[in-house]
Amino acid sequence: MLLIDFEWNRGYDNKPLDEILQIGAVRVSQLGGPILDTFNAYIRPQVHKRFGPGAKVLPELECSRTSELDFATALSAFLDWCGGETEFAAWGGDDFRVLQQNCDYWGLPVPLLHQTYDLQRAFGYLVGAQGQQVALWRAAAYCGIPDTFTFHNALNDAVYTAAVSEWLSEESLRYVPDPADSRKKLPRFSEEPFPAQPRFRVGPLPSPEAVLDARPARRPACPLCGQRAWVQQWQRASRRQYLAVFSCPAHGRFLCRMTLTPMEDGAWRGRVAVPPLTPDLLEAYRAALSGRIHVCKGSSRRRRKVRRRKRQACASPTV
Ligand SMILES: [Zn+2]
Repeated sequence: MLLIDFEWNRGYDNKPLDEILQIGAVRVSQLGGPILDTFNAYIRPQVHKRFGPGAKVLPELECSRTSELDFATALSAFLDWCGGETEFAAWGGDDFRVLQQNCDYWGLPVPLLHQTYDLQRAFGYLVGAQGQQVALWRAAAYCGIPDTFTFHNALNDAVYTAAVSEWLSEESLRYVPDPADSRKKLPRFSEEPFPAQPRFRVGPLPSPEAVLDARPARRPACPLCGQRAWVQQWQRASRRQYLAVFSCPAHGRFLCRMTLTPMEDGAWRGRVAVPPLTPDLLEAYRAALSGRIHVCKGSSRRRRKVRRRKRQACASPTV
């Protein structure tokens, strides 16, 4: 069994190619077994003139940029190393798609992959996060694997994939998603790890709704750059807990959690947090998606405008 991983560049032009910049792979006798051998090749990019946002942050981009290998040579060395192996696994399905795409682009024969496994899908099933694309670093953290090597290096990622694969059961590997599940598909969240965020309190206010609508409750900060966002609506996760998605233009989507507490005098207080996006939290959000929604008062710009106009209309006769 070979575990493979590629790094690639989408570029900014219209050329339809996720150009492979690095091939990493490890050989194992079986999933969860020890690593028997490794393969690593950095590939000099030839198609896109610029690096896209995903490629720009690759830790070993310089190794690809200065590599003497082109894709055809690297692929040929990789296939020699594969040595007729027929079982392949990767974290997600993208690597197989990208391999096919690069071979097609260069007119090279696509290697025969008799049996492929999507270990990301199996892991999602295992942790009850079906249909979610759990990032490899998050899965490694979940399994308690120390982050000794940098992620987003194809060889390191193949090694991490091998380490995580020890957790996968036969059942999880056989899991095929039910198309009906896709209705509750989660939006794509940021995959960047971030430091613990300060929590803050809102209220006391007369009702839970008033706490959910309160302006300070609805202004979470991006955990990476501090940019403030607006919460438009809360999904009810439980009687006392609500979750909301917010996004930073630079860093993507995050979840914000509101915990409500009743006070002795009948008022309510809220505690707002931006917790790390663990599989548990994502699953709680998915479950909340089929629950009640609290749309914050005055959240839509149109409604705010209408109200302002009304207010002006009421105010004018007294002037
Ligand atoms: Zn940000």
